[in-house]
Amino acid sequence: MLSFLETDKDLLKYSSFHTPATARYFFELREKQDIPKLHNIWGFAQENNLPIVFLGSGTNILFAFDIFEGIIIRNTLKGIEWKDNIVTVATGELISPLSLQISKKISEKFKTSEKGPHGPDKSFIRSGDMGNSCENRSHSSPEEGLSEGDVLKSTTSEDTEIGTGSSHFTEVFSLFGKWVGLPGTVGGAVAGNAGCFGFEAKDTLIQANIFDMETGEYITLRNKELDFSYRHSILKDYSNWFLVDTIFRTNLISDDTTNPRTFRSGKQPGGFTCGSFFRNPPGDSAGRLIDQVGLKGHRIGGVKVSEVHANFFLNDKKGSYQDILTLRDLAKEKVQEMFGIELQEEVRIIENK
Ligand SMILES: Cc1cc2nc3c(=O)[nH]c(=O)nc-3n(C[C@H](O)[C@H](O)[C@H](O)COP(=O)(O)OP(=O)(O)OC[C@H]3O[C@@H](n4cnc5c(N)ncnc54)[C@H](O)[C@@H]3O)c2cc1C
Repeated sequence: MLSFLETDKDLLKYSSFHTPATARYFFELREKQDIPKLHNIWGFAQENNLPIVFLGSGTNILFAFDIFEGIIIRNTLKGIEWKDNIVTVATGELISPLSLQISKKISEKFKTSEKGPHGPDKSFIRSGDMGNSCENRSHSSPEEGLSEGDVLKSTTSEDTEIGTGSSHFTEVFSLFGKWVGLPGTVGGAVAGNAGCFGFEAKDTLIQANIFDMETGEYITLRNKELDFSYRHSILKDYSNWFLVDTIFRTNLISDDTTNPRTFRSGKQPGGFTCGSFFRNPPGDSAGRLIDQVGLKGHRIGGVKVSEVHANFFLNDKKGSYQDILTLRDLAKEKVQEMFGIELQEEVRIIENK
């Protein structure tokens, strides 16, 4: 047994569903100097045949067990470093405050450049150049135009290669403003290619720095190597790859005036929920389908389908993971029956083997 592992850790507050659960082994990674310990944890897990699960803020995870016979590694690594328009962020940083910080900085920078002798800075990249839909988008990745090893330099000439100017905007907003109010950590957002209002992790990520727990070595992956798709990245396929920090391009702007906070407060419920439970089927919305089968407000034990957004399950009366799974099964069954569509979970469900 490794001395730095906690045992029988209460996980109640570590998932946004707030259901009772315990982890046999638990490690909170707070400092970068402790990253090599992950290699020891991997060895311990192999010897004892234990699964490992990485946890950010738990806003997209359901603990579907009473006691998890495995190891939960919670990430609270912090650190933000700027270099020109590029920011390197430790993955335990929360995405919403980070986005607010980036958004303010970039909007200010653009406004200042507008007043300068050369007019608006043409290195800024407009959202119109990136496509609009959250799904199946095809556009240049943020790393395009950057040569190997140039990632951190971010000079204007490199930016200009992929930017197409922005002088026609009358008012400018940083695309990161769209993520203000998005719950969770940077690690969770990149692992799941999180996104909203047409802006996904894959639109800004240049490079991911990963610790391979199995070999004890660091590897770096560029945007295209992360195999991003709708709510997916390659990180979801490798239980030994812990995402340590991410490098984002920040000079992304739009003239979209949607206020994400107002939108969320009007269309999404508060309380103990993990957001959208199911992925949206192509061309449709899981919330619409669940609403159509009459499950809005339907309750199982302490958990109900939200009346505000039918793809949100709310644990409003001290429900259990079993309540959530029963509600999930019911929604899947009804939608399959009525529409012939098989809903797929967006929330990651962690179970014992
Ligand atoms: C009210 C509400 C609204 C939401 N709205 C949206 C939305 O609009 N758009 C959207 O995309 N999502 C949304 N979500 C879901 C959630 O916010 C995102 O998925 C978020 O990015 C998850 O971050 P997290 O830190 O909580 O990850 P967790 O839930 O802790 O983990 C998610 C996944 O990432 C993996 N992971 C976490 N950290 C690492 C790491 N360092 N290395 C490797 N893998 C890692 C985990 O193993 C897990 O598979 C919403 C959730 C809530 C509660």
